[in-house]
Formats: sequence, C-alpha cells, structure tokens
Amino acid sequence: MDQKDLKDHKQIGQELELFFTDNIAPGAPFWLPKGMVIFKELEKYIRELTEKAGYLETSTPIMVKSELFKQSGHWAKFGEHNMYNLSLSDEDDGSNPQSYTLKPMNCPESTILYRFRPRSYRELPLRLSEIGRLHRREKSGEVNGLLRVRQLTMDDAHIYATEDQISDEVSNILDMMVNFYKLFGFEYDFRLATRPETKAGTDEMWDKAEKALSDVLDKKGIKAGDKLGDGAFYGPKIDVHIKDSQGREWQLATVQLDFHQPEAFKLEYIDETNTPKRPVMIHRAIFGSFERFIAILTEQYQGTFPTWLSPIQVQIIPIADRHLEYAQNVLEQLKSANIRVALDSRAEKMQAKIRDAQLQKIPYMLIIGDRESSEGKVAVRKRDGNDLGAIEISKIVDLIKSEVESKE
Ligand SMILES: [Zn+2]
Repeated sequence: MDQKDLKDHKQIGQELELFFTDNIAPGAPFWLPKGMVIFKELEKYIRELTEKAGYLETSTPIMVKSELFKQSGHWAKFGEHNMYNLSLSDEDDGSNPQSYTLKPMNCPESTILYRFRPRSYRELPLRLSEIGRLHRREKSGEVNGLLRVRQLTMDDAHIYATEDQISDEVSNILDMMVNFYKLFGFEYDFRLATRPETKAGTDEMWDKAEKALSDVLDKKGIKAGDKLGDGAFYGPKIDVHIKDSQGREWQLATVQLDFHQPEAFKLEYIDETNTPKRPVMIHRAIFGSFERFIAILTEQYQGTFPTWLSPIQVQIIPIADRHLEYAQNVLEQLKSANIRVALDSRAEKMQAKIRDAQLQKIPYMLIIGDRESSEGKVAVRKRDGNDLGAIEISKIVDLIKSEVESKE
C-alpha cells in the first residue's frame, strides 16, 4: 500500500466505529462497542500470559493522598504540573482540605499492597500485576488521539524479589516481551537506559542496578543499544523498541530495576535466618498503554485486524428473503460456538452486502442462497476475496476457532 493511502488510527477508529475523542474530555478516549471488543481481547490475552507466568492480579485506588507521591519521589521529579491534584476535604463541612492525586503510575500503591503484612523470603519473587487506569497531565498541544492521552490503561506489574532472583526474573520478562511482539509481526530491539541527571538513590545503588541489567543482557546474548541518561529517576531500565509496518519506531515495553522505592517505603522480607532484608522492585509493562498499543495496531493493520481481534468475525449474507430462516439458524450455531457473528438481513443486493462487509474488514462472509440452504452448507468468502466454496457449518466453525486459537 502506498504511504499516502494509509489512514491514521483516528480516521480508522471513526470509520469502523471503534473509538473517538470528544472535546468534553480532551485526551480521554470514548470506546465504542466494537473497539471495546479489541480492548477486552487484548486484556484477556495479557491476563492469560501473566497468570501463566505466576503473577497475581491486584487493583489499587485511582485517587490517593498526594503525600504518597511525595514519599515515592514522584512529586519532586514530575512536580505538581504533570499530575492531576485536587484539594478535597474528608469532613462534611468542607474543613481541613487535603491534597489528593489521580495516580499517574501504580508503583507507590503497589508497595502498600506489599506492606499489607510481613513478608517471608518464601513468598519471593512476589509478582503483583495490575491493569491500572492512570492520569497524566499531557500538554494540550501534545494530546493526540490514542497515541498520547491523559487517561491511560497500563498492563503493569511489580515484582518483589531478592537480589539473587533479579537475573531470572528480568530474563523471563524479556522472553515474554519477545514472544508477545513476534505475535503481532513487529520488528524489535532492546535499549539499556542508564542513570539520568536528576535521580534518587546513591551511585552505589545505580552501579549495582545497571550492572544487574547489563549482565542479564550479556547472559542472554542480547546486543542492546544505549539510552544514556534515560533511565527512570529510581532505576535503570531495558526498553523494547518496535518498528511497525510503516517503519516507525515506538517504545512500548519496559522492564525497570528499582532499589530506591523499596528503601523509600521501608519494604522488608524476613530471610532464612529470620533477619529483615530489603527486597528489590522490578517494574514491567508489556503493552505499555492499551491506548497507544491499540492505536499502533490499528494503523499497522489499517483496520484489518486478525480474526481473534476482529469485532465481528463473520457476516452472514442471505441472497434473498427466502434464505433468512436458514441464515438465522446458521447465526445461532455460530453464536453458540462463541464466534462473533452478524446477519445482514437488509433487502440489498448480495454484491452491496459483500462490499459493506469488506469495508468493515470482516474476515469471513458466509453467503447463503438456494443451493446452500438445501444442502445445509454456506458459501465462504474471505475478506481478501479468496473464495473457499460451499462448506459445512461444522467445518467453518472449526476453521475459525483454530484461527482464533492460534491468533493468526
Ligand atoms: Zn512501576
């Protein structure tokens, strides 16, 4: 496809009725039912991956007292100007207002979950995941569709571990990222981001953390590019940069090593000899933000999502009204097989119905005429124009289910 023919995600989002933004909430997208199907499928997939990898899902409040971010160091680093702060009173008469913040990240609240009760070395590595809704005060000139938003959803996780466990944990996370990005056909490479100018913690802490990450990369034989001075204020990180089908580069996934926040929040575990020790904290995200990831996917596929992500997977197209009864029967069979299916019962010509299904990028069209009705079959046409001929219902169900299963 010619570069000039490519549509951006905002246009595709409107045309396919996936999502949009409105001036009533700048930087915060509205999700339409079809877009929500994609969002939920990705959410389901990341939950499966994290569950398999031994993560435990949690949820923390969206609005917390600002003092938490003062303690974590985020307040000093990002200042009030990059966070949404509200002055609110807990009293009925409105007295003694306090400063609250809409969380811009989940980490400080994750440490509160960790501190819920004393922790033993037997629990480590403790992998706590959270699909958290965050608010960041992006400048109005920088807000852009789903690519840069003020309200975002992050597939976040924090792993509490001993120093001996860092290597295996980071290594497993890198494997998870590679598998994930391969699935979507992205090219990827790694960058090691080191200490920034304004940072928390001692140089000794930073030396140790940077060495730990570069040792993991060496051990895995990964040649990582450098992002000197681009680490988080609390620790170094390995970022995964991906290239989309149009050759544009994006930083999405990240894994960060943090000795600072466990110190700031006085986190402890009891070791084998009953001695309190400080755990390390590993932050990681695979998508980064759902919003940005879906924007990139939408542009990468130009709306032609793979079957497992397609809001409607099958469109049933009866040729004439006399085929409606059988079409309805096929619809029910596909629905009961958990296939997302719609029936085009309009009194339009077949060609017009096919064209509309193609414009909606629906992967499968099942065309039903006299022959199909009498033989109990459907004529299958794929969105790329490929004609599979007349097929039994059970066969097309199997075909679609195996395509969904393998996420082709
Ligand atoms: Zn974090």
